[in-house]
Amino acid sequence: MNLAIPYHLENFIGGNFIGPLSGAFLDNVNPATAEVYGQIPNSNKKDIDVAVHAAQKAFVEWSITSNEKRFFILNKIADLIDKNLETLALAETNDNGKPLWLSKEVDIKRASANFRFFATAIMQFASESHAMEDKAINYTLRQPIGIVGCISPWNLPLYLFTWKIAPALAAGNCVIAKPSEVTPVTAFLLAKICKEAGLPDGVLNIVHGDGQNCGEAIVQHPAIKAISFTGSTKAGGSIASIAAPMFKKLSLELGGKNPIIIFNDCDWPKMLQETIRSSFGNQGQICLCGSRILIEKAAYENFKTYFVDITKKLTVGDPLDEKSKQGAIVSKAHFEKIMKCIAIAKQEGGKILCGGNAIKLEGRCTNGYFIEPTIIEGLDQQCKTNQEEIFGPVITIQSFETEEEALQLANATQYGLAATIWTQDISKANRMAAKVESGIVWVNCWLVRDLRTPFGGIKNSGIGREGGWEALRFFTEAKNVCIQF
Ligand code: NAD
Repeated sequence: MNLAIPYHLENFIGGNFIGPLSGAFLDNVNPATAEVYGQIPNSNKKDIDVAVHAAQKAFVEWSITSNEKRFFILNKIADLIDKNLETLALAETNDNGKPLWLSKEVDIKRASANFRFFATAIMQFASESHAMEDKAINYTLRQPIGIVGCISPWNLPLYLFTWKIAPALAAGNCVIAKPSEVTPVTAFLLAKICKEAGLPDGVLNIVHGDGQNCGEAIVQHPAIKAISFTGSTKAGGSIASIAAPMFKKLSLELGGKNPIIIFNDCDWPKMLQETIRSSFGNQGQICLCGSRILIEKAAYENFKTYFVDITKKLTVGDPLDEKSKQGAIVSKAHFEKIMKCIAIAKQEGGKILCGGNAIKLEGRCTNGYFIEPTIIEGLDQQCKTNQEEIFGPVITIQSFETEEEALQLANATQYGLAATIWTQDISKANRMAAKVESGIVWVNCWLVRDLRTPFGGIKNSGIGREGGWEALRFFTEAKNVCIQF
């Protein structure tokens, strides 16, 4: 298998690697150096039509392929991802700007884990039966939907792309998948791996392009019956407005403005270590990152001193350097957005406790997009900085006096994705967990993930849940069969 990355990437349709029909390409930029290092197809409706045709042809066989065979192929894909971890991790880092150690430790390992998890899950997936005493029996058939669309963002490129594709394929669907145009390379390499693993032609079609031309064409296509989307709340709303009147099944994993709630009685060393990760991990570009830290008043000054001190020591540097804790921001556009958010925070009266500036590195990364990890205090909950998603290495700190006030602050945004609670008081932790408005709550930890658990947000953070049986249920249609005795 040749995992060399060509200058011009190609779509993967019907088992073939082909360029976009329009001949249109987009620049692919390495954010750590600002170099254009490749071109990616900017596919449109015509390419999606061809991909849907290939998927329809493949669905006839794939939908009745045994679970054992699907298990075997998906497991093989997982093995090949593991075997090529170094190549995939380097590609992810060059595309996204995240530190290479993070791509190796988290992103690529999770991509193979996704395939392995759903390969096994489909072997255990079962449906219900409902007996009506001596009258009749009902059983539920769980059948693949048909052709489904999977659209993913740039922050955890292969990790989130495979998180959607693996359950869709395991359940017997054929897939039209679009990675983010900002980070397309590992999805291109995945196509090569799937071919090598023996996935039949047309079962997975990977089409590259931007949201407007390519993403919307997937959402609008009448033969694509379900859309699994992860990305911004804005794009999610636009997708829902097209897909809902067409009665498509929809799973939307959207933005967040997650609170980290810290009580004075917590385990301080662990809390500080994990709060650094939840604030600045992946340059703060994880939907689950905590961007609003709420601290009990009695702990506020101590927290501030320790947290600022540790944050100042985080090394921002070349993502290929093992010593870099923080890498580059994903793109020029996103870098500018984050810098604008910092300027707005200052205008709103925020005090920058550390960071707040762009960084100019020396050497190969001198033109790259780097920002200092930034901590801001002195802003109220209603200001723009504490209401709108920044999605970068920027957090605010606020204090509270009572549990009620902590909850009020935590719940005072349009979002509801994830929350973290730090306390050694088990009753308080449970009370808070029940009342905080979010789809995911971590107590005394952050980003501890069990792939069987329901994953997703409430309010403007999305609809539907991914993970475990939830994902397999999403990617199948339930049909009740009733038999009278
Ligand atoms: P984005 O919404 O701009 O793009 C996401 C994907 O959707 C890309 O592939 C893009 O090309 C495509 N797209 C954009 N507009 C589209 C449209 N109108 N129709 C169809 N497709 C369209 O998001 P992004 O900037 O790539 O990612 C960052 C966002 O993703 C943040 O808001 C973050 O919170 C969110 N996110 C959420 C989760 C979660 O699980 N809830 C996980 C990761 C990221």
